[in-house]
Amino acid sequence: MTKMTSATETVTEATPVKAPATPALPDAQTVTSVKHWTDRLFSFRVTRPQSLRFRSGEFVMIGLMGDPDPKTGKQKPLLRAYSIASPAWDEELEFYSIKVQDGPLTSKLQHIQPGDQIILRPKPVGTLVHDALLPGKRLWFFSTGTGFAPFASLLREPETYEKYDQVIITHTCRDVAELDYGRELVDSLKDDPLIGEMVGEKVKYYPTTTRQGSPRMGRITTKLQDGSVFADLGIDPIAPETDRAMVCGSLDFNKDMKDVLESFGLREGANSDPKEYVVEKAFVG
Ligand SMILES: Cc1cc2nc3c(=O)[nH]c(=O)nc-3n(C[C@H](O)[C@H](O)[C@H](O)COP(=O)(O)OP(=O)(O)OC[C@H]3O[C@@H](n4cnc5c(N)ncnc54)[C@H](O)[C@@H]3O)c2cc1C
Repeated sequence: MTKMTSATETVTEATPVKAPATPALPDAQTVTSVKHWTDRLFSFRVTRPQSLRFRSGEFVMIGLMGDPDPKTGKQKPLLRAYSIASPAWDEELEFYSIKVQDGPLTSKLQHIQPGDQIILRPKPVGTLVHDALLPGKRLWFFSTGTGFAPFASLLREPETYEKYDQVIITHTCRDVAELDYGRELVDSLKDDPLIGEMVGEKVKYYPTTTRQGSPRMGRITTKLQDGSVFADLGIDPIAPETDRAMVCGSLDFNKDMKDVLESFGLREGANSDPKEYVVEKAFVG
């Protein structure tokens, strides 16, 4: 049976409606740009769901549809935790990602192109937020690898500069090229039309490498313990009266940083119990 729905359209009701080749993803967002920084790192931006509200520094679950089950042919979403690297005011969302060659998600995600869709579950959570810290004068961001991502958000967040006189970002990677995303972002802050004036001279950037030669080599934990960070930056050592810190790296890094920060007298806080420092895993394993 056929029926006319308009002058030009004929719908044949007897013909079953064919499923589209790629089924529409649940919570789909569209990729707007992709940049590859090294063979192990890339960043990308996606459309932002209109209803998504988050606090700069939080993370969400994102992913792609997994491979079809060999028995049932059904596909399930393959989701992973990702820090939102863009600030809360941005009309798009940015992510900074590792490429794990045999990683279930990132072996595929690294091939996304503008126009492709990803899944984004709009339920932001996390401890790397201003609400989890008591007021202070200096704010430290300590990161390794993709642990820079939540700080890419917080460095572009006006509240960071409203609340603190000085913001110190440390980023430690194995090789120099792995610092590029962070360096470019820090360099762009002063020219940012929204926060450029607030940033002024407040941000100090302290990159270090652990494998490839660079002007500052070594672990940040060692440099905090021997005081060389403070000497290099010409600032006072960390003290609980003035300093607040956020930490994002591997499990080992986070554990070492906790010990260092506690040795300076800082206590770990949480959303429900703000104190002097907070920690989040950059990845599990
Ligand atoms: C709270 C939280 C926030 C996260 N935010 C980010 C983020 O902003 N960007 C990001 O790239 N990843 C982030 N991750 C890690 C992310 O969830 C995935 O693990 C990563 O995308 C790899 O997924 P996969 O399925 O390819 O491999 P997985 O099976 O998840 O991981 C395989 C192995 O790869 C290594 N690995 C995984 N992620 C990383 C990483 N980021 N850096 C170094 N080694 C890693 C680990 O050894 C892990 O066991 C976050 C994890 C958590 C818990």
